[in-house]
Amino acid sequence: MPSSESDVVPAEPEGLRKSLQEKLERCSTLPTLPAVAIRVLQLCQNDDLDLGQIAATIGKDPALSAKVLRLVNSPVFSLRNEVRTVPHALALLGLNAVRTLALSFSLVRDLRKSQQVGLATFWKRSIVGAVAARELAVVTRFPAPDEAFLGALLQDIGMLALGRVTGRDYESVAAEAGDDHVLLARLEKAAFASDHAEVGAWLLGTWKLPEPLREAIASSHYPMRDIECAGRHADVVALARIVRLAGLLADIWVRSDAAAATELVKEEARDFAGVKSTDLEAVLVRTAAAMPQVAELFDLKLGTSDEISAVLDQATETLVMVTLRAARQIDSAHEAIDSLQHKTRVLEEASQRDKLTGLYNRARLDAHVVDEFALAHRSGKPLSVIMADVDHFKRVNDTHGHAAGDRVLIAVSEALRGRLRPRDMVARYGGEEFVLVLPETDAAGSAVVAERIRKNIEATRHNLAGAASLEVTMSFGCATLGPAAFGTSGDLLAAADQALYAAKRGGRNRVVLHNPTVVPTVVVPIAV
Ligand code: GH3
Ligand code: MG
Ligand code: MG
Repeated sequence: MPSSESDVVPAEPEGLRKSLQEKLERCSTLPTLPAVAIRVLQLCQNDDLDLGQIAATIGKDPALSAKVLRLVNSPVFSLRNEVRTVPHALALLGLNAVRTLALSFSLVRDLRKSQQVGLATFWKRSIVGAVAARELAVVTRFPAPDEAFLGALLQDIGMLALGRVTGRDYESVAAEAGDDHVLLARLEKAAFASDHAEVGAWLLGTWKLPEPLREAIASSHYPMRDIECAGRHADVVALARIVRLAGLLADIWVRSDAAAATELVKEEARDFAGVKSTDLEAVLVRTAAAMPQVAELFDLKLGTSDEISAVLDQATETLVMVTLRAARQIDSAHEAIDSLQHKTRVLEEASQRDKLTGLYNRARLDAHVVDEFALAHRSGKPLSVIMADVDHFKRVNDTHGHAAGDRVLIAVSEALRGRLRPRDMVARYGGEEFVLVLPETDAAGSAVVAERIRKNIEATRHNLAGAASLEVTMSFGCATLGPAAFGTSGDLLAAADQALYAAKRGGRNRVVLHNPTVVPTVVVPIAV
């Protein structure tokens, strides 16, 4: 195993009930480790490893070494040159790989001798899972792909042990679950208080197999996101995730509903950071390609190659569909966000506008004047504000009604808005009072703007219901930050308000400039 054993936090098989454990301990027919596997494991644990002795031990079992070599030469390993001997395999693939394969074959051979009923899908899931696990290890760059092979191969071994201790009860549970592995684990929990993952982990513990393998099997029914990294070596977590996903990949060929199995694979793979969507497809294709030969090696019927590829086709199609669906979901999520942002912008904009005239409101004006005031201060350029108020507007309402008054206010706001420069701003200050903010405009410029608007309004005839019509005039007060200094933007507005007041007092329908040098204000009629 790639990790050092000291890094591993031993995970107690969760929830393995004492009573069940006692039954398991008493059971004399539990699956056992084959003699050759025990011997190979012992040799591997020796400090002074003797590769020759290991090769000899495997070589003593000709059927076993033949199988190891055939698997090594199969597409599973994709080696360039043929490997003819166990020592050659050891030299080429390393001790771990050969040890693990010898273990796998001897175990499967021994276990299959005592075939149990009610486990129709067990071997198919184990062996297809083992091949898939090896492929997953390769794509995720897991350093010990054969350990992954063995882990997936043994992940359901607890089914055999549970079958031995609970007999017919297990057969009926397995029959009820059919090819649904998730349902099987749930039914096992209900009937025996533990599922086969917990029992399998316990069994591997009694076999003294490496701790990471035991952990991988213990967590093989956990959702991917629960196979956490906390306190565990990254390779231990990776092995557990590979074993989990490999079992689900195998279910694509085990379950009658390949599409449902593929969806589950896709869903779980999302929480397995190292696996991309294209990786999954590659793993599926390579697993399918290796299946016929592996099936033969393990004396297992996995279906004809047509059947294998029909399932593969369906799985890849489902993968594509799920990917498309996910993409669509992301798209529509983006659309929802976009439209939300749009709505927020619209609402924000609306909150700054006056409902009747569509001009900016007082709140927006106050903020805007503060900004322009600061900008003008920094740049040293002038800033003018014009305060404008409809003359005797109360009479308009009183004579023609409030609705007519509203229409006049709308017309006035149109006149105020017309022909301004892009940086100019006009707001309804309240009632029939308006403010214009004109950056980079001096006092004379503001007077020109105000006078132009004044004349325009004076010349406008407002048609009312029936044949009636009316004319209104407006008074204007201008103040400029430029030669004159103002402490705040509020002071500037107040100065414009004073000039407006002067315009009213001076007879209305006129423009007055605020002149801070003369106290308090002076009326300056504008020559047309
Ligand atoms: P002055 O020339 O001194 O400005 O006289 P005025 O009548 O225009 O001034 P005053 O402040 O006495 O009256 C303003 C009127 O404007 C009173 C109010 O009912 C009216 N008013 C304020 N807001 C609205 C509005 O949204 N729609 C209408 N129709 N009238 C409004
Ligand atoms: Mg399982
Ligand atoms: Mg008024």
